[in-house]
Amino acid sequence: MKLLNEPVLLSTGVYLQIPVKMTLLDETIIRSNEPEEVLTFKYKDLGNRFIIPWRKIKGKLRRLVLEKQRGLPIEPQCALKDDLCMKCPTCFLFGGTGETSSAGAQYNILSRIYGETFISESEVGDITPYTANAVREQDLTTGQALMSILTVPKETVFRGVVTLKDPTPEMVSILVENLGRLSRIGARSVEWGRVQTEIDGYYLSDREALSVYLRLSGAAQPALTGLPTDQVIPPIDGAYGTLNEQVKILINSLAGGS
Ligand SMILES: [Zn+2]
Repeated sequence: MKLLNEPVLLSTGVYLQIPVKMTLLDETIIRSNEPEEVLTFKYKDLGNRFIIPWRKIKGKLRRLVLEKQRGLPIEPQCALKDDLCMKCPTCFLFGGTGETSSAGAQYNILSRIYGETFISESEVGDITPYTANAVREQDLTTGQALMSILTVPKETVFRGVVTLKDPTPEMVSILVENLGRLSRIGARSVEWGRVQTEIDGYYLSDREALSVYLRLSGAAQPALTGLPTDQVIPPIDGAYGTLNEQVKILINSLAGGS
């Protein structure tokens, strides 16, 4: 199988799956007073595991892809969540709804990037609640308020599979580079939650065959195929530029232009 030469509007059934290993370098907050980000889940077969919902990973990844794009600069006004431009590489990869964007586009874009819940390799052990007195800034005395938060231990390893539908070399370049830039996860990630994200390899196929749930359950998984050796993955800056031009042509045809 090959990567597509150009992005397409209608799917041609080519899937590039990328198994990802995410290692916590810090303790990461799983529950706090803020919205929960990393959770625990009791599976029938896998037991009690830490999980990271895909929408959390996708959200972080989209911000990174958009931030890099803005620096180039390509469509620097495109912003989450209500100011999507609906015509840039990031909108093309992650999707968007025309009516709710300030661009007022008459079309929607389906996401080309799919994922699944990230699951911890090992079962959840004892979770230590971290309790601290809230300190008053004015006189540095501790008041009555107690902060109670739960953390996932550092060095916990999560596994997940990211899937790119109808991949072109430019889309692969952008996704892979930005996966490597995914360095924080979890609630309050400014002070906690450093992670290292590594790619195990590539599986190019006409279906989504890899799943971390199946792998952790002990089911047989196909061997990784790698990327086609006769296709060149361009450097990231050029990849954004080329994909931007290609997307503009596609969007123009969607919007009724010639
Ligand atoms: Zn955009």
